[in-house]
Amino acid sequence: MYDAIVAGLGPAGSTAAYSLAQKGWKVLGIDKARFPRYKSCGGCISTKIERILDFDIKETVEETAFGATFTYKAGRTMDILSDRPVGYNVMRDVFDDHLLKKAREAGVEVIEGLRVKGVADSGGFVTVFCEGGQEFKAKFLIGSDGSSGVVGREYFGLDPKEAAISITAEVPYGPAGKTVHNKLFIDFGSIPFGYGWIFPKKDFLSVGIAGDAAKVGGKVKDYFNEFVSTHEALKGLKIDHRDGWTVPIFYTGAATPVRGRVVLAGDTGHLVDPFLGEGIYYAIRTAKAAAVAVDTALKTGDADLSSYKDWLEKEVYPEFRSAERLSDLVYDHPRLWYSIIEKDHDIMRRYYNVIRGEETADSFYSWVYNKVKSKPWKVLRRWIESRFMPA
Ligand SMILES: Cc1cc2nc3c(=O)[nH]c(=O)nc-3n(C[C@H](O)[C@H](O)[C@H](O)COP(=O)(O)OP(=O)(O)OC[C@H]3O[C@@H](n4cnc5c(N)ncnc54)[C@H](O)[C@@H]3O)c2cc1C
Repeated sequence: MYDAIVAGLGPAGSTAAYSLAQKGWKVLGIDKARFPRYKSCGGCISTKIERILDFDIKETVEETAFGATFTYKAGRTMDILSDRPVGYNVMRDVFDDHLLKKAREAGVEVIEGLRVKGVADSGGFVTVFCEGGQEFKAKFLIGSDGSSGVVGREYFGLDPKEAAISITAEVPYGPAGKTVHNKLFIDFGSIPFGYGWIFPKKDFLSVGIAGDAAKVGGKVKDYFNEFVSTHEALKGLKIDHRDGWTVPIFYTGAATPVRGRVVLAGDTGHLVDPFLGEGIYYAIRTAKAAAVAVDTALKTGDADLSSYKDWLEKEVYPEFRSAERLSDLVYDHPRLWYSIIEKDHDIMRRYYNVIRGEETADSFYSWVYNKVKSKPWKVLRRWIESRFMPA
């Protein structure tokens, strides 16, 4: 009997396992993959990560971004840079392996290459059923098996269709070598209700596009192909391999990620910012909070994990709801949005403070909304201008 089992050992699972083992609990972590393993991802971690980390991740950071070059449908290029960092770019195989190593060092027992197939919660403990008929028991389970896992979908009934759909590729630098430094590339308008990106790493450009699954329909490959064949930063580079994946963004009405002795952290619980699709920071942050709830329950012998739900309601969901409203504002009208930020770079510069954790998404949204509402004629002018810009 373990004190806790952690199903899935990405950033959420490794963090939860690490946090509980640090407190002296007997923890088992299970992942279907063997590490280091690839994860389709832009791999850009917002700098607010520094506020919540228990250990250094600097050795995994390949590039520090000080802002971005923005485009609209791969054209109308503009730089909005900053003198302070906004993001750290990592390769996920390296980054996730680093976190798992920390969990092992803290005393977590790890089983790699074993798929979790089901969960039962009865008799005062949780049973985790794995492939090959193996079973493990624990007082508590943290479900962190990501968007393709079983704990969120099957045990909690979260809806896999509430997601963004994406295509990504890791593109090696051409013969010219690395020519871009210290910035991201973000494109609006190339995909419905989403964006395209190019995030530079040491040896690769991580390229991708993602948009709301319902609005993109079956055309994500077409949007990706159009984006990569027209973007200036990718001219002449060879894209051999592409990956399709989903981003399980937060949605209003999602089941609460606490059920009996089981809690969800990270992607499994749809704990992904719905505006940026940013999930690494939230995986780590929610995993730490889930571990606090489990630690308290283990100490008190009371199986009530609702403090985690209360914490999410207070600390995370309000941010996600504001991010949802921001998504509607931006992605419903990408051309108008682009015309507005083209004329007013301070909007994005202020958004960088949200990414840095210095301002809430809620206060940023209110500020933008009031700005737009207080000068409707300006917005009307931008809207008219945007009609005559290249589509
Ligand atoms: C295309 C794309 C681009 C993204 N770009 C960014 C970005 O730039 N920045 C950012 O912050 N976020 C980004 N995200 C989101 C980010 O990748 C996720 O939010 C993050 O990986 C969540 O971590 P996690 O630990 O919850 O899940 P994961 O990282 O998905 O880890 C889940 C783990 O569970 C394991 N697993 C799955 N099923 C089972 C099973 N049945 N049994 C056992 N183990 C299982 C998997 O092998 C995996 O190791 C992106 C996502 C996508 C798809």
